[in-house]
Amino acid sequence: MSTPSACWSLSPTQILDQLVRTLALQFQVPISLVSIIDERRQWFRARIGLAAEHTARDQSFCAYAILEKGVFQVPDTHLDPRFADNPLVTGEPGIRFYAAAPLITEDGLGLGGLCIIDTVPRPALTVEQAAVLEHFAQLAMLRLSTLRSASYLDAPTGLFNRFRLEQDIDHALTFGGHSLVVIDLVTPDFLNDLVRALGYNFSQELVSVLHNALREQLPDGQALYKITPTRFGFLVASGKQVAERAFKQLLSAFEAPLACGNIPIQTQPGIGAIALELDSSDTDRDWLRLAVSAADDARDRGTGWCWYEPHLDLAQQRAFLLLTSLAEAVRSEDQFHLVYQPRLEVTGGQVTTVEALLRWQHPVLGPVSPGEFVPLAEKTALMRPLSLWVLKHVVEQAARWQRQGLRFRVAINVSAPDLASPLFTDRLMELVAQHALDPQALEVEFTESALSQNLDMVCDQLLRLRALGMEVSIDDFGSGYSNWTYLSQLPATTLKLDRSLIKNITEQEKDYRLVEAMIELARRVGYRTVAEGIETLQQYQLVSALGCQQVQGYLIARPMPAGALESWMTTQRRQLANQLREAEPVQSLH
Ligand code: C2E
Ligand code: MG
Ligand code: MG
Repeated sequence: MSTPSACWSLSPTQILDQLVRTLALQFQVPISLVSIIDERRQWFRARIGLAAEHTARDQSFCAYAILEKGVFQVPDTHLDPRFADNPLVTGEPGIRFYAAAPLITEDGLGLGGLCIIDTVPRPALTVEQAAVLEHFAQLAMLRLSTLRSASYLDAPTGLFNRFRLEQDIDHALTFGGHSLVVIDLVTPDFLNDLVRALGYNFSQELVSVLHNALREQLPDGQALYKITPTRFGFLVASGKQVAERAFKQLLSAFEAPLACGNIPIQTQPGIGAIALELDSSDTDRDWLRLAVSAADDARDRGTGWCWYEPHLDLAQQRAFLLLTSLAEAVRSEDQFHLVYQPRLEVTGGQVTTVEALLRWQHPVLGPVSPGEFVPLAEKTALMRPLSLWVLKHVVEQAARWQRQGLRFRVAINVSAPDLASPLFTDRLMELVAQHALDPQALEVEFTESALSQNLDMVCDQLLRLRALGMEVSIDDFGSGYSNWTYLSQLPATTLKLDRSLIKNITEQEKDYRLVEAMIELARRVGYRTVAEGIETLQQYQLVSALGCQQVQGYLIARPMPAGALESWMTTQRRQLANQLREAEPVQSLH
């Protein structure tokens, strides 16, 4: 006999095993099972008298049992056309008699059945026997529920967790007509910032405020699942239009700030939804990931909600592929190379600087633009090895040109994380010393995104570079929310006006006036100005008349490998400079 403590030490499945053993004894049958059904199989959570752990769902007797309210019985399978040809009847274990009580959850969901099976026909169960079987099924269900609630609940919130959601998605797929909805209430970055600013307890409280507020907006009885601390999910059975009305209501409910510990918190909801439809061609779709990508997209596009669209997922898959192959690419040495684009002095036509630009030849995807992979890498730790790769190759090339007596600077693009710590500058100094390179032969270009980092640290790093005699330029100025106040504070020497500003200056008077004002302001603050993206002679004539000192763009030259640049310098550059000198500066066209 087991002592009570020995009983408590039984594993959950041992308890169910004891139960089927007792049942087999009670009914004098060779086989008894606790069977759970999913859309493809039936699984035996406990079994006696059967070796298999699962069978295909279409052979399952229990699939019939869960449709019944009471006990389901087949006294002789050979006489029942539904089962006479079933492989479990014609082959092993040779089922002749079958009876099962359904296992039903509190919310009415049929999970499977508790069954007794014989290999010879038997009379139907009496009412009393059927009641005993049902009683045992209730016991088994109690055991299964405690197991389910322990492993399917998120302890701090009491909400269902992601495992449970994945299971329920499977069930919803079998029933059809459901959609999965994912709602992000704030971004993980926002929550992390709050943890840093106000502490962990506050952020915990916010998570609870968020899910309470969401629960209030959902109909009573709607199951809510916590996917991450800021992301929740639920399943809806309504059509698309009804669901969309509900999304709009949800969004308007979250327009007002939520109070958390007397601090108003503005949520930024993103709702993503996907219709759950079984498609024989791909049964193993990652529904949750697809709904999450739709929610991210809803927020990025500022639409608030959106349905999953396959092309957006393709973009995400491509981003994933790029990021997973980046580390290998940095190691491989033959996937990356640098090209150089000259900048021309308006007065004199000299080339004082060439900009190093990274190129990636991906083994499967072919050429990938840095405009695509650099912003992705910047979000991960992969940017560091990539920046160091560029730095090493730029310094080596600049040292080679220095040895050849070529006198121009090489500008290197640095990304925000490079300036967020002293490591990049340290490495740059090491490499410069190692290659005996005059640091004045280098220039660093950074964009305003670097200023979102610790500003003091960024300034410290820039000052160290300036102290070595390097030029420092602000790249893509005017492309985003350019902040004029930084201009007087930053230890920079050059302002590069973004291509988007230059693009329309010949047609749009406003753009022209803006460029005029920027060049004037930069001059007053003491910056040299460079116009990027000069593609036509007219653009060149306009910016040179406005006093812009340097120009860069396809009109001058496209980015090219080091060797091609050397020959360009000796041949085309002079010819181009002469052509440009002949082109009169043009005062305003407007
Ligand atoms: P950026 O630093 O502003 O570089 C200028 C970009 O404009 C380059 O694109 C260049 O090829 C392109 N360009 C130059 N002249 C013209 C023109 O006349 N018309 C047009 N339409 N485009 C022109 P690219 O090489 O694709 O680089 C894109 C961006 O990727 C760069 O913008 C820079 O932010 C980043 N990047 C490139 N190489 C590196 C690198 O080594 N490290 C880092 N951190 N970023 C890099
Ligand atoms: Mg640049
Ligand atoms: Mg630029």
